[in-house]
Amino acid sequence: MRCIFCDIAAGILPSEVVFETDDVIAFRDINPAAPVHVLVVPKEHIDGIAVVDQTHTAVLGRLMLAAVEVSKSEGVAGDGFRLVINQGREGGQTVGHLHIHLLGGRQMRWPSG
Ligand code: 5GP
Ligand code: ZN
Repeated sequence: MRCIFCDIAAGILPSEVVFETDDVIAFRDINPAAPVHVLVVPKEHIDGIAVVDQTHTAVLGRLMLAAVEVSKSEGVAGDGFRLVINQGREGGQTVGHLHIHLLGGRQMRWPSG
């Protein structure tokens, strides 16, 4: 299956890439909800966090490590940041390709709504 984030990962659609490895790409959200809003995405198409299994263990680890790496390069590691995965309709997922939101640069509220 191919989708908008597959096309961004393949370089077919433009994006502002801030981090890239063989299997992970991170780029700025087109509609930022915070001064720092980066999407950390596996290049492999995965519908969402609800469908992962043990075969995804390595890529999930790399996604988390990439998010931490980007928090440092974006300068928010010290003051703090939030990682979010939206899953499905009630979770607020609008793009059906697994991604972690890295949000930072302002005070986050809780509960997130
Ligand atoms: P979700 O709602 O699925 O958790 O998050 C999807 C995110 O992708 C949203 O924050 C939205 O702004 C972002 N987004 C949607 N389309 C594009 C796009 O074409 N480019 C970029 N950079 N971000 C996108
Ligand atoms: Zn995809």
